Amino acid sequence: MKSKSGHPGDHKSEEQRSGGRSESCSFCQKPTVVRLREPNRSLCAEHFIQDCEERVKRAVEAEGMIAPGDRIAVGLSGGKDSTALLMILEKIFSSTDIELVAITIDEGISGYREETMAAAVELTRRLAIPQQIVSFCELFGRDLDSLLFRREKEACTVCGVLRRRALLEGARRAGATKIATGHNLDDEAQSVLMNVLRGDLPRLLQDTSSGYPECFIPRIKPLIPLSEKEIVIFLMVQGVFVDLPECPYAHTALRGEVREMLADLEFHHPGTREKLIHARNMVRERISGNFVGESTRGGNLITHCRICGEVCSSEICAVCRVLGDVANIT
Ligand code: SF4
Repeated sequence: MKSKSGHPGDHKSEEQRSGGRSESCSFCQKPTVVRLREPNRSLCAEHFIQDCEERVKRAVEAEGMIAPGDRIAVGLSGGKDSTALLMILEKIFSSTDIELVAITIDEGISGYREETMAAAVELTRRLAIPQQIVSFCELFGRDLDSLLFRREKEACTVCGVLRRRALLEGARRAGATKIATGHNLDDEAQSVLMNVLRGDLPRLLQDTSSGYPECFIPRIKPLIPLSEKEIVIFLMVQGVFVDLPECPYAHTALRGEVREMLADLEFHHPGTREKLIHARNMVRERISGNFVGESTRGGNLITHCRICGEVCSSEICAVCRVLGDVANIT
């Protein structure tokens, strides 16, 4: 899961950046809370909120992420990204026939999950959105803390595999047609770079947005137009930003190092994140139907796990492999 950080200059206020000079919004006389580029614009709180919602709406429409009648399972951890995602989707779709249901996964991480779970429950109550809570204990018989005994370094790999399954299970229980996750611009760029650094071409090119008939529920990422910093400001100006604790396993992940590296590159070379994602998309498009099709959608490679029966692309699915490894260690 994501956590905070970024370049030291990232969270400076606009006033600090402009050396104390106050500036008016490009669209009204109210004071600016943020200055954005491409196109250059200074925005007050109200226009910034509107700008964020419009950018997400445009991305959803341009990429056909959501169709009339969809029932969207929104992964809601209670952290800042999923909170912003649920708020924006609720605003955009509240008067349509699109339904939202929040899915909260309780991995069982002591000292961390309690607060974020409470925040998730409170948000769904405030927005009057139904919520499903799925726990690792219920699905896999153990919580993450105990699953990570003697393999803490693999925390995010183990957690990621199990969380994807738990989210899918929650979405199925909710009768969802799509799964929306709160990945933002920084997360997506980090994932591209991580997959390159790991040499994981299948994962780099995998596109889960279209799903696979009767097998996978399509996964969408409506928040990609917004950076982590913008999401923090979006929540702060609405008075709903809460600085929740960071997952105790976050430091074990390669993502932490990549995050620092990318934040530094972005600071010195603005636009790096967008270029990375664009490059990945171009490669994906050019070889679509060859490598990607073969690895994720080719008819013969879609099969059922020999152990749990879940749809997967090999004899044993990733979840059963992870749980099998745990059983061998403990
Ligand atoms: Fe996120 Fe890793 Fe913590 Fe799981 S273990 S919640 S993936 S940081």
